[in-house]
Amino acid sequence: MLVFAKIKSIQQKIKSLPKGTSIGFVPTMGALHQGHISLVEKAKKENDIVVVSIFVNPTQFDREEDLVNYPKTIDSDLSLLKAVFCDLVFTPTAEEIYANNIQSANFNFDGLEHQMEGKFRQGHFDGVGTIVKRLFEIVTPTKAYFGEKDYQQLQIIRKMVHKSQLSVKIIPCDIFRETDGLAMSSRNTRLTNEHRNVAPFIYKTLKQAKIKFGTENALEVIKWVENEFKKEPLLELEYFEIADEETLLPIKTKNEKQKYRAFIAVFAGNIRLIDNISL
Ligand code: AMP
Repeated sequence: MLVFAKIKSIQQKIKSLPKGTSIGFVPTMGALHQGHISLVEKAKKENDIVVVSIFVNPTQFDREEDLVNYPKTIDSDLSLLKAVFCDLVFTPTAEEIYANNIQSANFNFDGLEHQMEGKFRQGHFDGVGTIVKRLFEIVTPTKAYFGEKDYQQLQIIRKMVHKSQLSVKIIPCDIFRETDGLAMSSRNTRLTNEHRNVAPFIYKTLKQAKIKFGTENALEVIKWVENEFKKEPLLELEYFEIADEETLLPIKTKNEKQKYRAFIAVFAGNIRLIDNISL
């Protein structure tokens, strides 16, 4: 496994690969867990080589506190990647990516960016679009792997690829969970024991909401979820929405032909957790 911090050196390596080599790419912010590794394993099966980037992208953080405290575990990240035979790792600094101008470009994702995370995290998806586009230019992947854990991000990347007519194929990957149902996240390591113990309540509620959605209308389900969270003082519900899987627009009336997903964001103390479920 080779590790590169400089754009020029990883580009040189990629250019030296035999013509036709397929490249699977997994962009990450590090503090890797089994969720990330499941993406790397999938990429490994489907491509000749796998590239993983580890970069805590400053332009996608809306809260300075979240950026500063984002966990960094580079040594253990590299051991985990080595163990699953990752080929190339890209670990640039912010200066390497942005030079002296740590700013996002402005994107139009046809409205996807105004829903849910876009409402609560100002500028987040401009930051995501900026870094993913830049990384795609550097790595030139054949396929890129994104977790459904960040479902809105996945749809936004698909939109960007389509609109910019990039040749990379976007591969969605299932949400990887702890045995108690909590979606794996780098931020989970920052939870207090108390918050970690109640956090599985999020997925438990999503599963119950899914069952209720079979017989009740969306408004009833939303009200029910909001009430459930009022009973759990350690968790503060930021939003719960039921939306169309493609457009991410909130459901108005249930249509049998459409596919829906429930999306949730919750604060456990000052740690923000997100999750979603297909309905
Ligand atoms: P991050 O390091 O949080 O930016 O995540 C990097 C990639 O891993 C993104 O495509 C995430 O959606 C994906 N990912 C993070 N957590 C999980 C998980 N629990 N299951 C599946 N994919 C995940």
